[in-house]
Amino acid sequence: MRIGIPAETRAGETRVAATPEIVKKLAAKHQVVVQAGAGVAASVVDEAYVAAGATIGSAADAFGCDVVLKVRAPDAGERALMKQGAVLIGMLNPFDAENTAAMAASGLTAFALEAVPRITRAQSMDVLSSQANIAGYKAVMVAANTYQRFMPMLMTAAGTVKAARVLIMGVGVAGLQAIATAKRLGAVIEASDVRPPVKEQVESLGAKFIDVPYLTDEEKEIAQGAGGYARAMPADWMRRQAELVHERAKLADIIITTALIPGRPAPVLISEDTVKAMKPGSVIVDLAVEQGGNCPLSELNKTVVKHGVSIVGEPNLATLVAADASALYARNVLDFLKLVIDKDENLVIDREDEILKATLVCAGGDVLRK
Ligand code: NAD
Repeated sequence: MRIGIPAETRAGETRVAATPEIVKKLAAKHQVVVQAGAGVAASVVDEAYVAAGATIGSAADAFGCDVVLKVRAPDAGERALMKQGAVLIGMLNPFDAENTAAMAASGLTAFALEAVPRITRAQSMDVLSSQANIAGYKAVMVAANTYQRFMPMLMTAAGTVKAARVLIMGVGVAGLQAIATAKRLGAVIEASDVRPPVKEQVESLGAKFIDVPYLTDEEKEIAQGAGGYARAMPADWMRRQAELVHERAKLADIIITTALIPGRPAPVLISEDTVKAMKPGSVIVDLAVEQGGNCPLSELNKTVVKHGVSIVGEPNLATLVAADASALYARNVLDFLKLVIDKDENLVIDREDEILKATLVCAGGDVLRK
């Protein structure tokens, strides 16, 4: 079987879907074609792929394979290079109906890895977790870089410097890593989330949880989330959360927001009034900016200063840690690939498999999942 690794062409995308570590495993049984320069932005040179057993080719060579491994969905020109019935694996955005329809029309058998269910068997394929972990780490690095003061408390002959106060909004995979990273830098941390189990996780990392009590059974029920993801909370709970967060934000030096609701715009958690109440020189890093932002003042792909507060709207922070982001992503992809390749190394797609069923967005010209 021929497995292709094209270069990513979307603006700002630095990752690559397979690293030499993974290519070596695949090349033992298959022909692997890597597009020239595909790994350069992730610190992987073509020679490393060749040493791992791949051949280097053109975009047409890589896209023309039986199985194509990608980070982001191919564009129209790239789809045109693919074979009818080719298997495509990547972060294909299952919520983008137009893109799914286009992939179906190209006759692709496409798997969107963001839709991997949150079950134990699928943990090693969970690209959202592997990339969110990196984004959470990098968010703190970006914030520290933008912030004009120290993160740790310092006692020097020239006087004492206070530790930075960091507020984390949304404590899933990215938020937990952001807490751990800010803690290592010596910050004092508070955090908020809707899901009840998060309180204990936050406290175990040495941060303070901002408790917004559930006043009704409905609030408690919605807060549990579904399938490991949050649901949109009732307006009254959101109002009470906003009031508490407003007070905590006034004291914060850095706010990192990561709150997402799958398939919906990101919830607004830091209003313009709250930004106005923050200290001059404070920093907000809005990881949800691509989904509309947790702060309405954040702007995609820009760092803006509003009411004296720097607001970073970098959409995909994992791309700024391209080498490790690619390494983890490629391992996720390899584990997924094992589900569609049988012991004789042939492609076999078991439509009843829970993971394949959840991720298969189109096949045989049909859209299977919106
Ligand atoms: P996510 O990226 O979808 O959302 C980020 C966080 O924002 C979540 O914690 C969510 O609860 C929170 N959020 C949503 N609305 C909010 C609001 N109004 N205020 C504050 N916070 C809000 O979430 P994620 O990082 O992908 O993961 C969520 C959970 O799933 C984590 O606890 C993670 O450990 C778990 N998980 C489980 C598995 C598994 O069991 N296989 C795999 C991956 C993740």
